[in-house]
Amino acid sequence: MKGTKAIVSGHSRGLGAAIAGELLERGIPVLGLARRGNAELAAEHGDRLAEVVLDLGDSAALAAWLAGSALGDWVAGAEQVLLVNNAGTLQPMGPLPLQDAAAVARGVAVNVAAPLMLAAAIAQVSAAVGEGTTGQVRDRRVLHISSGAARKPYAGWSVYCATKAALDHHARAVQVDATPGLRICALAPGVVDTAMQGEIRASTLERFPLRDRFAEMQASGGLIAPAECAMHLVDFLLDEDFGREPVADLRELMR
Ligand code: NAP
Repeated sequence: MKGTKAIVSGHSRGLGAAIAGELLERGIPVLGLARRGNAELAAEHGDRLAEVVLDLGDSAALAAWLAGSALGDWVAGAEQVLLVNNAGTLQPMGPLPLQDAAAVARGVAVNVAAPLMLAAAIAQVSAAVGEGTTGQVRDRRVLHISSGAARKPYAGWSVYCATKAALDHHARAVQVDATPGLRICALAPGVVDTAMQGEIRASTLERFPLRDRFAEMQASGGLIAPAECAMHLVDFLLDEDFGREPVADLRELMR
């Protein structure tokens, strides 16, 4: 489709950097949102990458940014708008007695509030553009990066499991809204070789009892490279069937 534009949260490293890179390689301009920029992608892709420094754990700051014109300006003229809600955090890890209340609030803000706020904003801003004279948005796609932890409980990950499950159920409920021209899916990407996996391996057994299983997975070459994951993920995002199922697992789609 002509005039596709993307918004990718957490484009500064890891899976988000690979997704942003894959979209840019395919000629799709990307607006990246994270606390840090991605100098490598910026050097390679110039002004096809726009970057906004935002702490998505600060819901008030995100709301203030969304109240401005930056998102509308970015989307203007696009026929297709892709939102990849990728930014996420595992913190706080550990059972309830070890969870700091402020860290719980931040985890929920990054993993749930931000993706839900961005999804609503994309639906509204692109609808407004579609009704106006600046463009005709025909296709809006929201991809939540979920996790296997949304669907299976893991000791030490109650906040992470609950927040990712929230994304899954958000996608299911949005799908039954049946908003014209809007599709959504919450996708578990598999176990990806990023800093987040390093964080898991660096945790204590008290906070994450399955730590050694993840270390063994890495040692035996069981992690998927971010670039490979991103290639399949972007194929899925651009596919005609995207959003047919509101919840999916990339590992099953790759079989
Ligand atoms: P990562 O290496 O830790 O990268 C996380 C990204 O999220 C970074 O770009 C980071 O950017 C951004 N981010 C985190 N907190 C943020 C905040 N407060 N404000 C703005 N941006 C923030 O993690 P990853 O492995 O690439 O994970 C990407 C997504 O995949 C996450 O949603 C994760 O839950 C999911 N996932 C990963 C795996 C895996 O095996 N790696 C498996 C299942 C699901 P800044 O630090 O620059 O802000």
